[in-house]
Amino acid sequence: MARYTGAVCRLCRREGTKLFLKGDRCFSEKCGVDRRGYPPGQHGQGRGRFSDYGVQLREKQKVKRMYGLLEKQFRRTMERASRMRGMAGENLLVLLERRLDNVVFRLGFATSRAEARQLVKHGHFLVDGRKATIPSMLLRPGSVVSLREKSRQVARIVSALDALEGKSIPAWLELDKENFQGTVKALPTREDITMPIQEQLIVELYSR
Ligand code: SF4
Repeated sequence: MARYTGAVCRLCRREGTKLFLKGDRCFSEKCGVDRRGYPPGQHGQGRGRFSDYGVQLREKQKVKRMYGLLEKQFRRTMERASRMRGMAGENLLVLLERRLDNVVFRLGFATSRAEARQLVKHGHFLVDGRKATIPSMLLRPGSVVSLREKSRQVARIVSALDALEGKSIPAWLELDKENFQGTVKALPTREDITMPIQEQLIVELYSR
């Protein structure tokens, strides 16, 4: 599966907001948005206002980049969300949240979704006792994500879990830190997704 390999801080600067793509660095003074809070590129500081289409496009790009998807995969997720019952925008966010790489990140095994994705691909996790190496795998209520026995000494995972001290994990997940495993208690609701996202703009973009 292809993925974006360029400089990720440029993506945050393009969207004008922190997308938290680089783990600890995002909370430090080295954050690109804090240091240079204008779009990248030669004309970054001279850009004017967006059209309606531009606003919708930027919202879609923001969410797509936040979850680390490329266009084709994001579009397919949107199509699936539109076929489901309920509001397409909310369905889209729920589908994105249910991805294995996102759940690994949310449980605190990784400091960013990109890191979580790599850990999953490298075979560090089991889902319901079976090895799972596909980051886009969708989890269901009751799914149990556990760290493989031999991966429990991996320094980056241990330090990510240590850094979790004092932070809360989403209400729809449950972490059993002692046993290096987490459970999906229920599907996330819109209220559980606290990032500033206007999903309706994305629905409007794809309905054009
Ligand atoms: Fe975005 Fe993190 Fe880079 Fe800041 S440090 S610009 S939040 S990826």
